[in-house]
Amino acid sequence: MQIATTVAEMRQRRDAMKGSVGLVPTMGYLHEGHLSLVRHARAESDHVVASIFVNPTQFGPQEDYQRYPRDPERDLRLLEAEGTDVVFMPSAEDMYPDGFDTWVEVGRSLTERLEGAARPGHLRGVTTVVAKLFEIVRPQRGYFGQKDAQQLAVVRRMAADLNMGVEVVGLPTMREADGLAMSSRNAYLSREERRAAIVLWRSLCRAEELFDGGERRAEAIRTAMHAVLAEEPLAQVEYASVADAATLQELERIAGAALVSLAVRMGRTRLIDNIVVNS
Ligand code: AMP
Repeated sequence: MQIATTVAEMRQRRDAMKGSVGLVPTMGYLHEGHLSLVRHARAESDHVVASIFVNPTQFGPQEDYQRYPRDPERDLRLLEAEGTDVVFMPSAEDMYPDGFDTWVEVGRSLTERLEGAARPGHLRGVTTVVAKLFEIVRPQRGYFGQKDAQQLAVVRRMAADLNMGVEVVGLPTMREADGLAMSSRNAYLSREERRAAIVLWRSLCRAEELFDGGERRAEAIRTAMHAVLAEEPLAQVEYASVADAATLQELERIAGAALVSLAVRMGRTRLIDNIVVNS
């Protein structure tokens, strides 16, 4: 496995590759969710590139950029074991040199709600860094988790609108045994918060149960989700949403695929999760 620590080195390695390239962008501190993306890339591409870059432009000023968990040595061992060919680990200075001033921003209809509303500038940081990674690595396919459903939708839109020639592949959310979605940020949780964090999954399961029982009124589902979340005193709810899975617009009635998503704070840690229900 090769490690490229600069943009120039990554470009060189890319130029030497023949055949198809699959890219898995990550911020490191890897878990099974990340590794499932790498496995899909490995199965479908001649070369697998994984990036580890804690992207400063997708964090707000009051967010956890500085304390985001990092363990590059462990990450490299895990990526090597999955047959990754190249790990791209650039510095923030190399990705954003002095004078950097170009942003890639998807239109408001996909970005003004949900994470876009809760984290101003976050999605613009994501699309900008992913555009740069696509440009540097020039993959045929980019692999993303459904866990970050709005990010996936926005990256898909960007790749199509800008004719990037990258197939954006979305893959299912990997979960802990009790249902909690795997996330690097779970490392922040105290024992008590970790126990409480299953309330996200319980709330999503309640939504699915209602949907399976025939409920199609989005507001009834949102209300039921809030009721489950209210049972956990440590949970501070940011949103519980039932939106059109393609347009991300809040629904009145579910017809077709709906994204059921939520964002909840557990102490200082912000957790998100979602499921898609389909009628
Ligand atoms: P991150 O390192 O959090 O930026 O995540 C890198 C990629 O892994 C993104 O495409 C995420 O959506 C994806 N990912 C994160 N958590 C999971 C999970 N539990 N299951 C599947 N994919 C995930």
